Amino acid sequence: MKILVINAGSSSLKYQLIDMETEAVLAKGTCERIGIPGGKLTHKAKGQEFVIEKEMPDHTGAISLVLKELVDGEAGVISSMDEIDAVGHRVVASGEAFNKTTLVSDEVMKTMDEIAELAPLHNPAAILGINACRAVMPDKKMALVFDTSFHATMPDYAHLYAIDYDDYKQYKVRKYGAHGTSHKFVAGAAAQYLGKQPEELNIITCHLGNGSSISAVKGGKCIDTSMGFTPLAGVPMGTRSGDIDVAAIEFLCVKKGMTMEEGVAYLNKKCGMLGISGVSSDFRDLAKARDEGNDRARLALDMFTYACKKYVGSYAAALGGVDCIVFTAGVGENTPFIREGVVSGLEFMGVKLDKEKNNFRNDGTIHDISAADSRVKVLVIPTNEELVIARETAALV
Ligand code: ADP
Repeated sequence: MKILVINAGSSSLKYQLIDMETEAVLAKGTCERIGIPGGKLTHKAKGQEFVIEKEMPDHTGAISLVLKELVDGEAGVISSMDEIDAVGHRVVASGEAFNKTTLVSDEVMKTMDEIAELAPLHNPAAILGINACRAVMPDKKMALVFDTSFHATMPDYAHLYAIDYDDYKQYKVRKYGAHGTSHKFVAGAAAQYLGKQPEELNIITCHLGNGSSISAVKGGKCIDTSMGFTPLAGVPMGTRSGDIDVAAIEFLCVKKGMTMEEGVAYLNKKCGMLGISGVSSDFRDLAKARDEGNDRARLALDMFTYACKKYVGSYAAALGGVDCIVFTAGVGENTPFIREGVVSGLEFMGVKLDKEKNNFRNDGTIHDISAADSRVKVLVIPTNEELVIARETAALV
């Protein structure tokens, strides 16, 4: 079985064609500048990279170009579109409308339109991608894989905000979380690596990238996560503030003459590592600046590791003990000093890092960075959201 995984943005579209027998990626690529002059498709297949410069007026144009590349010429990996058994689409937010991977239908797409406002930056783009695929491949089975699904198992006392309950019921304002597909993948991969069943393990998964979230996974199910109604909550991130007293926002809005909408945009785009350091949102730039003596870069990094450590500690309490801590994503996979900063001081709960092992060079494989006598395993696991989407799609169709 071959599954085409689609991750559509407003002007970009990423794809992977995965052979489910071997779980090998047959081809992958990115369409850039959809609907903007200067369209470009970068297609990787057969160990080579092909760059196709062609205008893509809309997502339908982009999908058509991708299919042509998958089938045609020297870059082609299948003989016809018939070889694609199904398509899996990444969708960021499902609200309470869907709590698991769902087959596309007219009715489902109607609901998708209704919940688009839950992730205004992401869901409308996913809808464009899905509709484009339906137009170009009308007979293909398609699945929607939601980032929020993995968090649907959070108990009510963990996912609710202490607001008027009637408002929660009417407006569905609650914690939904994000990065669920990644948390799910690394939690599953950790259990497999440790030779255990997911049911036997309490795992804390740290997806640390430009956006970061931390989840508590008990017996393979998410019981809590750091992101909230939107991805603004939790630890401070590249440009997002993370958790903050809402009254401070009102105060800032008044002082700076911002509307509420502008205030939220400020918290999403101008705060976090960028806001504190005044240097960059990128952890590599921050590390360099800190090493050159920039104290605000040092402060931003210290705030980040401190916030992550607090989440790890509180999730250890929520889980009733922890067997394994996993680091993943851009920062989690590539930044030894962040991993060390997050787990240092957690020796009291059985976490002991092997500093030498922690200094490995990322080679895309799983690394155990805990000391031999650490009660809690500390693992670094490269995330693979596309593979989860492909597996879920294959299972459903
Ligand atoms: P996103 O949330 O956009 O998916 P990523 O998971 O790609 O983000 O993480 C981006 C962050 O990861 C950046 O701050 C960057 O500094 C860091 N990062 C990514 N790749 C590397 C690398 N090879 N070495 C060090 N840091 C990296």
